[in-house]
Amino acid sequence: MNSAHSPASPKTPGVVIVTGGSRGIGHAISALLAREGHAVAINYATNAAPAEALARAITEQGGRAMAIRADLSKPGEIRTLFTRAHELGPLWGLVNNAGVTGTKVRVDEQSAETLDALFNINIRATMLAAGEAVRRMSTRHGGKGGVIVNLSSVAARLGGLPGLVPYAATKAAVETFTRGLANEVAREGIRVNAVAPGLTATDMVPPETAKLAETVVPMGRVGHVDEIAQAVAFLLSPASSYMTGSVMTVSGGR
Ligand code: NAP
Repeated sequence: MNSAHSPASPKTPGVVIVTGGSRGIGHAISALLAREGHAVAINYATNAAPAEALARAITEQGGRAMAIRADLSKPGEIRTLFTRAHELGPLWGLVNNAGVTGTKVRVDEQSAETLDALFNINIRATMLAAGEAVRRMSTRHGGKGGVIVNLSSVAARLGGLPGLVPYAATKAAVETFTRGLANEVAREGIRVNAVAPGLTATDMVPPETAKLAETVVPMGRVGHVDEIAQAVAFLLSPASSYMTGSVMTVSGGR
């Protein structure tokens, strides 16, 4: 391969913030990135124990990690997350993984409050965190470039399971944001891509929904968190150096 990698494709791993790294997909992403040599800032909202345990395990195995509490529905706490993560070194990557499904009811039963709570995490926090990352990584601001990966969902295109229409709409917003931000910072050393998982076995998917996979997923099963993490790690790596503004679907064919 030509050695003229863009600044967004460093050959050595760097510091990556993973939002919502205490459980599910974010936990698997944090563990995999640490195994690949990244220093990982593992964010969580309330579940300190699994985030702290993962950071400890990474450190004991010779890696670098710290668990950082920050409720991303609060803009001040998003800023604190980035300030604290700097203790690991200059930022090189952000995985906007934290997400919620919101209140699972029909649209005619949603309220301004339930929608605000959903939008604040899935959309506003994703954009504010990306802004913090761009301010630190963009060559326009004196940074060395970097990579942002946002977590979307196949729901963005399918419209969502019953009661999860607003959730699906937030993920469509994440995909549009991914494409637009990628354009905005493409010449500033930053690549921005998204991963759109299908049904994946985490706390977000109750057993009755997981069972659906047997019928609605062509491969007939839910995804494993490590299968999603692999796609995120690829988009963070130099192997994807010419990819920006893309959405990678990882859904067993759904
Ligand atoms: P999960 O198991 O429910 O975990 C959610 C994570 O987000 C937790 O670490 C949680 O922290 C964190 N979080 C929630 N609210 C937060 C807040 N206000 N501030 C900071 N962190 C917060 O979810 P998941 O299934 O792994 O989903 C991860 C991402 O993949 C989400 O964006 C989701 O929409 C997307 N996705 C999931 C699926 C699926 O089938 N599972 C499919 C498509 C897309 P605490 O532990 O502290 O609560």
